[in-house]
Amino acid sequence: MYDERRSQPVQATLASAPSAPGVGERVGPADIQPASNESLYRTITGIVTVAPFVGLGLAAWQLWDGLLHPSDLIVFAIMYLLTGLAITVGFHRLFTHRSFKTYPAVRGILAVLGSVAIEGPVISWVADHRKHHAFSDRHGDPHSPHVDAADGLRGVLRGLGHAHVGWLFIHTQRGSHERYAADLIADPVVSFVSRTFLVWAIGGLALCFGLGYAIGGTVDAGLTGLLWGGAIRMLVVHHVTYSINSLCHFFGRKPFDTGDESRNLAWLALPTFGEAWHNNHHAFPTSAAHGFGWRQPDVSGLVIRAMAAVGLAWDVVYVPAERMRAKLQVQTSA
Ligand SMILES: [Zn+2]
Ligand SMILES: [Zn+2]
Repeated sequence: MYDERRSQPVQATLASAPSAPGVGERVGPADIQPASNESLYRTITGIVTVAPFVGLGLAAWQLWDGLLHPSDLIVFAIMYLLTGLAITVGFHRLFTHRSFKTYPAVRGILAVLGSVAIEGPVISWVADHRKHHAFSDRHGDPHSPHVDAADGLRGVLRGLGHAHVGWLFIHTQRGSHERYAADLIADPVVSFVSRTFLVWAIGGLALCFGLGYAIGGTVDAGLTGLLWGGAIRMLVVHHVTYSINSLCHFFGRKPFDTGDESRNLAWLALPTFGEAWHNNHHAFPTSAAHGFGWRQPDVSGLVIRAMAAVGLAWDVVYVPAERMRAKLQVQTSA
């Protein structure tokens, strides 16, 4: 099932690591990133997970009082687009899967804006996600809803909960940075942004206040800009991203034979900017497009096409139709 990927750039990346795992290999200690201060990480993860819900309460109160500023929705939309696309186009398709090449400055901008999404430093994000692909839905996958899942409804819910957010509190199956992201550690721009993650995370929240103030013209608009562009946007971007790990390995169609439980979930395609065509993605991980054809909307794929058209992206990876046909399941429904 991994033959497709072996000839692709990401496999070259893994293969270039000194002891990259082979296809079908079992997870070993060298695959796992040790947690230096697990209780601190858990506390920070707890705050980042709970704080947006507190923001949601504040926003509900603000809506109840009829105090929503038009600037709030503009700040939300700007921040959702910037951080969401930086995760999908930057963290995922560029840094994890090398679907295209671009200038160091563009790599830096995508790494910074992706950090503003507050889903962790870029090198950790990439290492975990590459390990997910290497052990997809097998022991060693950091966030499979199926591994060690018990039977029955309780088991299903626990599996989905683990894949959605529970795994963020566990450090026993995180991807080793040296093994899974050696190329990014060696990249001076990306490793600098990864090391200074906290600066970008806090700077991004300051940007939300600044945007609200600039558009609304008052300190009040700045504060509610922080609420909508910061807390509410984090809530939506986080849970939309997390849904790829949970829902898209559980519900939806499996047109391609990938050997795992990845699925295409059409209704989630627009809010995820195309990432919900997740069975397509597991079938062809390095493809810059995740939606195949006009019936599968893929905003991130369009952004990469637009970047290529203006010279900001090159060596864009696309999958020939005959390779797609060869990988289709005999039965095309889940
Ligand atoms: Zn997946
Ligand atoms: Zn991926």
